[in-house]
Amino acid sequence: TYVVIDNCIACKYTDCVEVCPVDCFYEGENMLVIHPDECIDCGVCEPECPADAIRPDTEPEMEKWVEFNRKYSEAW
Ligand code: SF4
Repeated sequence: TYVVIDNCIACKYTDCVEVCPVDCFYEGENMLVIHPDECIDCGVCEPECPADAIRPDTEPEMEKWVEFNRKYSEAW
């Protein structure tokens, strides 16, 4: 899965949401999040993010961000 990290806070762009083929972005409290079970790992959103806020969960120390993304995407 891909996850959104805190670089997203205050970013006003939603280019990632536009390109996601499965519509798995959700609004968190002050940033977007990706539902980790709905993301199909296509990677299309990553280069669209001007804030470099979208990362694959294979990067180090992403566990807490996966849980954060899950928590806020399931709040809806
Ligand atoms: Fe959507 Fe693909 Fe990005 Fe996952 S990696 S959030 S499926 S665009």
